[in-house]
Amino acid sequence: MHRRALLALALTTPALARTAQGESAPPLPVVASFSILADMVRQAGGGQVAVHAIAGPDVDAHSFQPRPSDIQALRQAKLVVRNGMGFDAWIDRLLPAAGYTGPVLTATDGVPPLSHAGHGHADHGHEGEQDPHAWQDLRRGQTYVRNITTALAAADPARSDLFRNAGEAYLQRLATLDGWVRAQIATVPEARRKVVTSHDAFSYFGDAYGVRFLAPQGVNTESEPSAAQVGRLIRLLKQEGITAAFLENMANPATLRRLAAEAGVTVQGRLYADALSPPGGPAPTYEAMFRHNVGLLVPAMRGAG
Ligand code: ZN
Repeated sequence: MHRRALLALALTTPALARTAQGESAPPLPVVASFSILADMVRQAGGGQVAVHAIAGPDVDAHSFQPRPSDIQALRQAKLVVRNGMGFDAWIDRLLPAAGYTGPVLTATDGVPPLSHAGHGHADHGHEGEQDPHAWQDLRRGQTYVRNITTALAAADPARSDLFRNAGEAYLQRLATLDGWVRAQIATVPEARRKVVTSHDAFSYFGDAYGVRFLAPQGVNTESEPSAAQVGRLIRLLKQEGITAAFLENMANPATLRRLAAEAGVTVQGRLYADALSPPGGPAPTYEAMFRHNVGLLVPAMRGAG
């Protein structure tokens, strides 16, 4: 009689019945500081992690107010993943407030940094600091994923093989995607590889793929450009014959719209820079974000002219 009961159990709960002891444990609870990191953890976690993003889809993580649900998630967490390079420094205050004493991974460990290009936003105290937007280069993104995979394996040794396999498969996909981005950019004549965006989040993309990005807002979304900066940029757009101008999902659109109107440039869509879209949107994962952004950038750069 017990045999029949066990069979019924096996049919209704296949995951529990089929997998090894370590895999039938509840998913590893992880907190990530923002949506892009949360997706990387989810992909590298191979279905065995439960990830809470503090700054969720379409939320600006530069300036951020945590909610009670974030404290709750931190109380359960076995690993916290942050970007570092000054992007999510607010987490330094949040972790002690939540009583979290577990491991904290800085995902940019070992990632070669770029410094701020210096568009005249030295008034915000960021001069000479690192540009934090390193995930916009897929090769640097692969270093994030290696770091995440190692941290997941250390936080949950029983599932370390599973994390390493899932991480390896994810790294392969990112390497393939990196090759696709390079092939796409190669279809644009070199002289036309120039873009205007609302805040300066694409220096790493530009560095990796040979595209020049100009931004009126600077690296930090809190800063607003001066009239003189906007004037200089308008002259530059006209001089260089730039046709590709883009908004971002979490930046204030007013300045870019004004700039584009005065320079006679059309705003051609919305790039995802510092946050993913919600599920069902155009950029719900790190990989989808690249496909979406490159899919907009390439025809716009090739565009008129
Ligand atoms: Zn940013």
